[in-house]
Formats: sequence, structure tokens, C-alpha cells
Amino acid sequence: MKIPFNKPFLTGKEAHYIYQAVYSGKLSGNGVYTKKCQEYFENHCGFKKALMTTSCTDALEMAAILCDIKPGDEVIAPSYTFVSTVLAFVRQGAKIVFCDSYKDNPNIDADKIEALITPRTKVIVPVHYAGVACDMDKIMEIAHRHNLLVVEDAAQAIDSYYKGRALGSIGHLGCFSFHETKNVIAGEGGLLSINDDRFIRRSEIIWEKGTNRSEFFRGEVNKYGWVDTGSSFLPSELISAFLWAQIENMDLIQTRRKEIWERYYQGLKGLAEEGCFSLPDIPEYATNNAHMFYIVCRNLEQRSGLIKFLKENEILSVFHYLSLHKSGYYTSHPESRPDNLQEVKTIGDDQVVVGLDLPNCDRFADCLVRLPMFYELKDEEVDSIIEKIHEFYKK
Ligand SMILES: *Cc1c(COP(=O)(O)O)cnc(C)c1O
Repeated sequence: MKIPFNKPFLTGKEAHYIYQAVYSGKLSGNGVYTKKCQEYFENHCGFKKALMTTSCTDALEMAAILCDIKPGDEVIAPSYTFVSTVLAFVRQGAKIVFCDSYKDNPNIDADKIEALITPRTKVIVPVHYAGVACDMDKIMEIAHRHNLLVVEDAAQAIDSYYKGRALGSIGHLGCFSFHETKNVIAGEGGLLSINDDRFIRRSEIIWEKGTNRSEFFRGEVNKYGWVDTGSSFLPSELISAFLWAQIENMDLIQTRRKEIWERYYQGLKGLAEEGCFSLPDIPEYATNNAHMFYIVCRNLEQRSGLIKFLKENEILSVFHYLSLHKSGYYTSHPESRPDNLQEVKTIGDDQVVVGLDLPNCDRFADCLVRLPMFYELKDEEVDSIIEKIHEFYKK
């Protein structure tokens, strides 16, 4: 009996709400379900405004436009993240300045950010890896002192908190994903949270293809037209109808995921104490939303062996990000790099940027492995995965 890595969970009401949306006659976005979803997040997470988007990637693109990124502006982001975190800014002409992770946590090391700030720096993009908060007080303090904007990549961070505050509500802007691999899903979908009044009006315009259509429909202006840049970031009602069925079951989903997470943790603690691998670090300022369960192996060889062994036992585990600072794009596009990081050298098959050494990021790229994590994963399955991992380390 094969155990997949992920299985999208359906609450049972998705098709029903889509049916309702279809027969309500309003198929395009910004109808009843779009508003229900947005209001839910505004009320439960303390966002000043929430806008549904077609993906987190799109929410990040909206954020990059709102930050008014101009060619040559610098953006500080972790290297251990998904491509979209930085791609949105690169599309606006930004140069990406990669920051290392903590030694025992894949999140951006807040103590290393300040040294990377230059007069061209405009934005810091913390990514809450595995839904575990970055040190937001430190990051916001640095941002305020240097007059920078903060965009939280909260793609994995639904229902997660920093010192009691919802992730995505602390930076100037926040970006969420409802991709089918996340806790709460819509197939493809996302959300932009806006926490600074300065961005509210413009965010709606960018969202509606550069028009002030939202204001027109609220009766605030008597005609609408082209007023700014923008794109088609607003998803159809069908996406929000699907998402609403998930949001209604948020507690159910989250309770079960946390049980699974805890079961893994208890079952693997002993091996971690023996030094076989390390377990996720949840700092005291952060909550755990059980987005993923990962372990960090001692080296690449051990990780490859474990993934192979689990696969032979019909359990699918997967590694995660490759360091973005070593990616083919970054190393071959000098315009995406700041002036002090222009030189590239070849090591083996790889191109590397001279002077850019992020050892913690590279270690997570080599050693981190994610175990199956989804709502319908049974206790017996979790136990059998734990048992196989014990077996691997006893060999
Ligand atoms: C999933 C993810 C994204 C992209 O989300 P999409 O909705 O698929 O565009 C961006 N950043 C991080 C950290 C993610 O995990």
C-alpha cells in the first residue's frame, strides 16, 4: 500500500459551492464567494484588506508593483525558498540580495540582514518556511530604521502566528497560496494581504487590470477607466467558491494536521536525540500550523539513502528547495545581481557567484527531507513511516 507525499483533501462542499456560483449567474471574480473569503481573512487575521489572487506568485507580483520596484532596486530575500519569492521582483527589474538561513532553522537569519542593506535596498521578503514565523519584530525594526518595505511570503503560513499576531498581518504586505499542496486549497489560488493604508486604493486598481472598476461598483466614482498599471490578478468566483468550502473547515483540517505532526515528532524524537538527524525548530515566538513535517539529515548521502529506502518501502518523501543563489538563472543573469556580486566561476558542473557563500541554505538544500503530510494520512501510516525511519537508522 503506497503512501503518497501529498493528497489534496476535499471537505465535501466544494462542488456544491461551485454549483451555486455557476447557477448564480456570476462567474467572474469579486462576487459573493470572493467577498466571503476576503472578509474571513480580514476578520480573522487582522489584515486591513485582503484580495483574492489567482496564485501566491500573482500576489507577490502585485506586491512588487505596489512596492514600486524600479530597475536597479535591491530586494533582500532568503535563498532557501521557492522561485516565485524573488521572481516577482526580478520581473520589475530588481536585483536580488540573498541572505542565509539560520543554522538550525531554514528561515532568513534576521541578524544577517542589516549587513546586506545598501542605499538601493527597497524591500525585505521574509519567507515563513513550513509556516513557522520569521523573527518579525527584528525584521520590522530593521525595516523601519532603514525606511524599507516588508513583504511576507506567507504562502505556507495560513493559520500561523508570531507572538499572537497572524502571519501576513505584520509586514506592509503579505502573500498566501491556496495551491493544492498547501493546508487550505483551491487548486491554484492566492491572497494578498494589505496592512498599510498607503497601498489599499492602488492594490484594488492593480488587481482590476489598472482600472478603478471596484470604486465604480461601490458608487464612489461615476465612471471607470484606465488609471494605473495592473493585470488580471482577480480569480473567478469558482476558485473562491471552492476555497470557501475549505475555509469553513479550517479547524477540522488544522486539528488533524497538527495531530499528525505531533505523532511524527514524538515518534522521531528518540532518533534525533541520538544525533541521527534534527527535527524542526519552532522558536518560542512562533506557532506551528503543521504545513509540513521535515527532518534534516546529517549529509546529502544519508538523505539520498533515506529517500531511496522509504521509496523501496512505498513511502514517498521528498527533498525541497535548491539554493536560489546557485540557480542557473541567477548565475547567468548579471542584471539580477548587485554590483558586488558580478563575478561567476565554474566549480565542477556548476556556476557559482564569487563572494556569495550561504552555507546554512546549502545545508538545508542538501539535507532536508519532507515526510508525507496530508489530512487523510492515518495514524497507522504515520506509525509505519516512523518505524521504517527507525529501521533505516538501525542498519
Ligand atoms: C507555494 C509557494 C509559493 C507559490 O505559490 P503559488 O500559489 O503556487 O503561486 C511561493 N512561495 C512559497 C514559499 C511557497 O511555498
